Amino acid sequence: MPATRSSVRERIDAGGRSFSFEFFPPKTPEGTGHLWDAIRRLEPLQPTLVSVTYGAGGTTRDRTVEITAQIAHQTTLTPMGHLTCVGSTAAELRGVVAAYADAGVHHVLALRGDPVGGPQAPWTSTPGGLEHADELVEFISRLGTFSIGVAAFPDKHPSSPSLDLDVQVLKAKQDRGADFAMTQFFFEVETYLRFVDRAQRAGVTMPIIPGIMPVTNVAQLQRFAQLSGTPLPGPMIEQFDRVADDPQAVVEHGVEIASTMSAALLEAGAPGLHFYTLNRSFSTLRVYRDLGLTV
Ligand SMILES: Cc1cc2nc3c(=O)[nH]c(=O)nc-3n(C[C@H](O)[C@H](O)[C@H](O)COP(=O)(O)OP(=O)(O)OC[C@H]3O[C@@H](n4cnc5c(N)ncnc54)[C@H](O)[C@@H]3O)c2cc1C
Repeated sequence: MPATRSSVRERIDAGGRSFSFEFFPPKTPEGTGHLWDAIRRLEPLQPTLVSVTYGAGGTTRDRTVEITAQIAHQTTLTPMGHLTCVGSTAAELRGVVAAYADAGVHHVLALRGDPVGGPQAPWTSTPGGLEHADELVEFISRLGTFSIGVAAFPDKHPSSPSLDLDVQVLKAKQDRGADFAMTQFFFEVETYLRFVDRAQRAGVTMPIIPGIMPVTNVAQLQRFAQLSGTPLPGPMIEQFDRVADDPQAVVEHGVEIASTMSAALLEAGAPGLHFYTLNRSFSTLRVYRDLGLTV
């Protein structure tokens, strides 16, 4: 691995915090414009890394690898490629990991991914593929020196029977080589703190970085929350409903909530923040400013 001034673990182990921004591969030229505009505006914040999602069902495999490689070659940022088990044999997964390594990408977020029918549909693995994310972690770690991240779910994974199982699964990911975890978005700081406490009591020592999604659109929030099984606090929804006709007021309120949550999380000892940017820079920049983190 090259000198990893930006490695998540190095930064946190040295007493620092890790800040990261997540993007998704756009489908249109206009979307590509938004993505690169967001990347360029967020670049001066010098996050620990930026990550690129792997589309549902592995549908964006080539574009995910391409954008992650472009970030590695054309920006000063450290990219992390996401990788899921969906629809891929072990040989195909090995090919994607090799493509990341060729592009100089040494951070990988190892995920199972959602079934093609959505997060709550029954999971069926691909013949010759892998069953769970902990297997993918071990698979990647045997292929080279990667810093491997994994997903965690403070509000419980939508298809999991219990939070206890999720905690055991997180521990298994750590035992098989994961360096850090990033969480699904959530809206109650206490939910994250309770989850971290529970995970630590079960032997999880790797950092669990909270995922922050500044809300910019109420219908989209409700769709995402339903898919991910994330509860939306009633008072928060009432506040959004009051400004629902004013898109800029929704964005402002989303920033206010994200800033308040982020400050409380860092104050409570969270090892950093992972922002779901939705390929926009405005809200993340504003939260950074509110937290006094702008360089
Ligand atoms: C930060 C973050 C980024 C994400 N990025 C993407 C992305 O780029 N692309 C994408 O498609 N999805 C992404 N997701 C969503 C994720 O792929 C789904 O939530 C998926 O359903 C679970 O993935 P996982 O890696 O947690 O799987 P797993 O850890 O395999 O868990 C999946 C389910 O199986 C259960 N389980 C796991 N191991 C075992 C076991 N050994 N025995 C029994 N049960 C087990 C778990 O409890 C859970 O219910 C992301 C999620 C997060 C939090």
